[in-house]
Amino acid sequence: MVNRRRRKADRLTLTSMLGAGQLMAAVAALAVAGVVLLVYQVLSLHQALNSETRVQAAIVADNLAAPLMFRDRDAAADALRALRSAPYFRWVAIYDQQGLLFEYYGVNGHVPVAERHALDWLHSAQETAPIEYRGKVLGKVVLAHGTRGIREAMAHYLGLVILASLGALLLAQLLARRTRARVVAAERELDYLAHTDQVTALPNRRASYGLLEEAIAERGADGGRLALLLIDLDNFKVVNDTAGHSAGDDLLRQVAGVLGAVVDGSGTVGRIGGDEFAIVVPAVAGRAEARALAEKVTEALRSPFQVGGSEMFATASVGMCMYPDDAVSMGELVSRADTALYHAKQTGRNRLAEFLPAMTLQTQRRVQLERDLRRALDHGELAVHYQPQFECASERMVGAEALLRWHHAEHGFISPAEFIPVAEDSGLIVALGRWVLERACADAVTWQCPGAAPVSVAVNVSARQLRERGFLDEVVAALRASGLPAALLELELTESVLMEDVQAAVQFMRDARALGVRLSIDDFGTGYSSLAYLQSFPINQLKIDRSFLQSLPGEGSTIVSAVISLAQDFQLTVVAEGVENREQLEWLQRAGCTYAQGYLLGRPMPAAVLLEVMAEGRKSRTYRGTADAPHRV
Ligand code: C2E
Ligand code: CA
Ligand code: CA
Repeated sequence: MVNRRRRKADRLTLTSMLGAGQLMAAVAALAVAGVVLLVYQVLSLHQALNSETRVQAAIVADNLAAPLMFRDRDAAADALRALRSAPYFRWVAIYDQQGLLFEYYGVNGHVPVAERHALDWLHSAQETAPIEYRGKVLGKVVLAHGTRGIREAMAHYLGLVILASLGALLLAQLLARRTRARVVAAERELDYLAHTDQVTALPNRRASYGLLEEAIAERGADGGRLALLLIDLDNFKVVNDTAGHSAGDDLLRQVAGVLGAVVDGSGTVGRIGGDEFAIVVPAVAGRAEARALAEKVTEALRSPFQVGGSEMFATASVGMCMYPDDAVSMGELVSRADTALYHAKQTGRNRLAEFLPAMTLQTQRRVQLERDLRRALDHGELAVHYQPQFECASERMVGAEALLRWHHAEHGFISPAEFIPVAEDSGLIVALGRWVLERACADAVTWQCPGAAPVSVAVNVSARQLRERGFLDEVVAALRASGLPAALLELELTESVLMEDVQAAVQFMRDARALGVRLSIDDFGTGYSSLAYLQSFPINQLKIDRSFLQSLPGEGSTIVSAVISLAQDFQLTVVAEGVENREQLEWLQRAGCTYAQGYLLGRPMPAAVLLEVMAEGRKSRTYRGTADAPHRV
């Protein structure tokens, strides 16, 4: 509020100063022009009066030679009286050769004045003409006119100038007012653009943080509490990529509407990023109230949206942080709400996470992990383990999945579930993935045995790797360097990886298939479950996620058999992963599942152990057992 008010005040003073300034400049310009005009008029009127006086004096002088010569005063007086009707005439006098007054004539009591003072020209125009006869000067005529005419004319002029100036000022004022109105409108528009998100018409990032700052200042003053909720849509990118940007915009508008309805005046909703929203609840009684609102938000977004005629889901992860309980400054509040949001996303999305101090420790651990992971490869802390995959029908080993292992010098074994996301976020996965690919291809070459069935290797590929332009070249290079036939390499891609950029993913898959490499969809059923893409993606295999196997036999059987028959329809093979007991394996064999992978058949193990297991298995005609945690069937 404070900011907004300040902006309004700035705008008003700016525009009113513009108006007053313009007005003063116009008045000054008009005053200067008026003075110049008036002075010029005075001077030219005086000049005209002087020359008229001079001409009349000369005419009178011509008629006075005889009267003066014969000193005929009556005749002289007659000649002088002829001037009485001349406008503004005052007096006329005749002086003889000696300069003595011979005769004069004046009106309204004016008498000749010989001496002239400096400012007399203001009151009268006085001119002298010689009286001559045949070249001889007999005397002179002095004629005086009053300047009342000039003053009257000047008074008129002044009136006119003032009138014209007032008119001009009025016009200028009208124009200025219109300009000012336009400036104000333009400023308002700019202000709107600078603080409003164009898609949803909600306050944008800048405005949202401004509102948060104001709310913090207000709560700081009254000792109250406020809540900040950061909301991130879970699958927005997928919607944007599959349904197009205008559908994405439509969805964002609908989400904005839902958030506005949930908040219902108790706070402000803003869009602070592509698919990120912020809700500032400027006054809450306590954590429970804020939590209730945040839960309403997650709940409301679980309902499907109608976008472009089809139903779409825009579930959201929400991070919540309270002032002053969790943070006291704006930067801290935003960063901690973000930490909570990150936590919500990491723990499965579509949920609310409140900030806890332990989360900061987790963030610190991530930072530390990232730093250590950079050195892990050089320090020889990384290794690739292999988990065997079996053909369900024959129970023969047909391949193995490469799984990265990190044995940290200090912390011991660190789960890939923890460090792979760190590697993905930091981009380290590109280098690590390349290393795994090279190792896996090189190791797989050692598994092949003349006369025995070939054994393939499956390598996990993360989104970040697929986004790298040269990834396909890396695959080609790894195959070439190891000599592994392309048909024995399988790349495991997840649904979300493929949906990130569908076009690029399809292109990559076509190129990879052209090389002869096999492709499988990992964790099938957990990502964006659209079956439509099965038709457009050139894949070979589906890997049913472990979570479905857990409830097998039992409630999971419906989904697993549906996936198996779906795969058969599309001529795809199926791998069931996470097979932990004999019952599950037998169920899968009956259901017609192609391959199985899991602790029952073998845990992930170092390459050397896998080789031993394979050699042993060859003797007993099957490959079973592990070294990670030896397990025999
Ligand atoms: P994933 O690709 O789904 O790998 C299968 C995971 O399930 C592995 O966990 C494996 O040890 C585990 N698993 C296999 N059989 C069973 C079973 O019967 N029961 C249970 N409970 N678990 C079983 P792991 O090795 O911890 O890997 C976790 C995830 O880390 C992998 O999931 C994969 O997404 C990622 N990952 C591992 N290595 C790499 C890699 O080299 N590159 C990339 N991009 N990701 C990797
Ligand atoms: Ca995998
Ligand atoms: Ca998997």
